[in-house]
Amino acid sequence: MTIVTKDNIILLNEKGRRSDGRKWNELRPISMVVGVLERADGSAIVETGGTKVLAAVYGPKEMYPKHLAMPDRAILRVAYRMTSFSVEERKKPHPSRREIELSKVIKEALEPAVILEEFPRTVIDVYILVLQADGGTRVASINAASLALADAGIPMKGLVTAIAVGRLGNQVIVDLNDVEDKYGNADMPIAYIPSTGEITLFQMDGTMSPDLFDKCLEVAIETLNKIHEMQKEALKRKYLKNKKD
Ligand code: UDP
Repeated sequence: MTIVTKDNIILLNEKGRRSDGRKWNELRPISMVVGVLERADGSAIVETGGTKVLAAVYGPKEMYPKHLAMPDRAILRVAYRMTSFSVEERKKPHPSRREIELSKVIKEALEPAVILEEFPRTVIDVYILVLQADGGTRVASINAASLALADAGIPMKGLVTAIAVGRLGNQVIVDLNDVEDKYGNADMPIAYIPSTGEITLFQMDGTMSPDLFDKCLEVAIETLNKIHEMQKEALKRKYLKNKKD
């Protein structure tokens, strides 16, 4: 079944190919590089097709003002921001409502993985900067931030891995790009800790039948396990390189 938007973008053609030529379960090319910044404690750049995200971790460090510190654990502070040039229509530089909401959502997706009790009275800052957006910036941000936290040596139960799945008509799709996100029938970003099996973020925009929902979840978990392997490889590349140097 061919699905076309009102601007004549072919979302799904008769051969089952998507707007960028991908099959329903095909990921865009993914690149992950760990340790890209000299003065952050941990950092990573994740690119998923046209989406490019930089994450940097600074801390644990003493919390100021002190009354905000927690006596029994560290506070994870997350700031997700988009650069003005990251989107088609220039983004105003002040933090938007969406950026404030995504900072909270991403913090909540990362927090269950981080062993915050190891660092009482401190703060761990996670800065996320979207350099270019083409759909799925929140999931790329979670993948990058969890690599940056691991690179900073913060103890974690496991890496957090994220992907967006969704649907075009009755066709489940994996890793939505910008047009699929905007014109598709549903978008379901999911974050998951593969080593514990915990789902730490689950959102849905649009509608989904129970059958398609089950299919989406199944294919999401399969894909998340693949992305988790890529994250581990990216960390290994950095540490094997350091060992050689
Ligand atoms: N987007 C945009 N301008 C904005 C915010 C978002 O063009 O101010 C685009 C961008 O490509 C983004 C997509 O819309 O990736 C989907 O945004 P959404 O809020 O669903 O979050 P995301 O899919 O990036 O996690």
